[in-house]
Amino acid sequence: MKYIGAHVSIGGGVENAPLNAKAIGATAFAMFTKNQRQWHAKPLSEQSIAAFGQNCREAGYDPRHILPHDSYLINLGHPEKEGLEKSRTAFLDEFRRCEQLGLQLLNFHPGSHLGKISESRSMALIAESINIVLDRTRSVTAVIENTAGQGTNVGYRFEHLAEIIDQVEDKGRVAVCLDTCHAYASGYEIKTETGFKETMAHFDRIVGLRYLKGMHLNDSKKDTGSRVDRHASLGEGTLGLDPFRWIMQDPRLDDIPLILETPDETRWAEEIALLRGMAEASSPRPLKD
Ligand SMILES: [Zn+2]
Ligand SMILES: [Zn+2]
Repeated sequence: MKYIGAHVSIGGGVENAPLNAKAIGATAFAMFTKNQRQWHAKPLSEQSIAAFGQNCREAGYDPRHILPHDSYLINLGHPEKEGLEKSRTAFLDEFRRCEQLGLQLLNFHPGSHLGKISESRSMALIAESINIVLDRTRSVTAVIENTAGQGTNVGYRFEHLAEIIDQVEDKGRVAVCLDTCHAYASGYEIKTETGFKETMAHFDRIVGLRYLKGMHLNDSKKDTGSRVDRHASLGEGTLGLDPFRWIMQDPRLDDIPLILETPDETRWAEEIALLRGMAEASSPRPLKD
């Protein structure tokens, strides 16, 4: 079964995320656990934590289908000691917030070398950051997202994801989230059926589909190879609708959160319904008795 949702708002408190997801017909969702543009946040209140759990249970959301995202400020591959320490402290706080909420996954962009160290050195720092945080927490899996390769971001080749994972000690608590816009913008030609199939096979060879614990479903405003990260609503970008149909019809992508980060949130309910229709068109109809 496909679990489809969007990155919903936590305005008014994290407990509102499952309600916002329910309102758009989502069966999965993503969220921040704090204001993503600030380093520091008030701890979650007992009340907020309890209400979040209750709202998830009532709306039928399992932690496996909730994909929280960390702050955009964090750079786990930072070339300088101070920036790296600050990022690691904030990343640990993000992990703890997820644990408090009973969540299992935390999605993040790997990091940036800022032109001061090599990509490989930055990736080694990212892996070390993951190791430090996994060592100090118990239940949450670190979910690395592929990037568009904008600026000095690493993580735009599947080989990068594999290089980071290789250096993570606890392989049971590291995973990958594939973003369609980022994959396409970084040069993976997923717009044609052959290209899509080859990209999935390449991912399986280099990283391993067993590591795939979530996807971001975004069309792209920019063309393949542009390495520019601009999301578009489904069918309104350079990707078009076909890749989303192939995703919805691929049983290997069952049971993981499939999350929209498309720019027009007033269209999320419609986009979710569209994706669900694509998924249902591929599954055998139940027998009538
Ligand atoms: Zn994404
Ligand atoms: Zn993006």
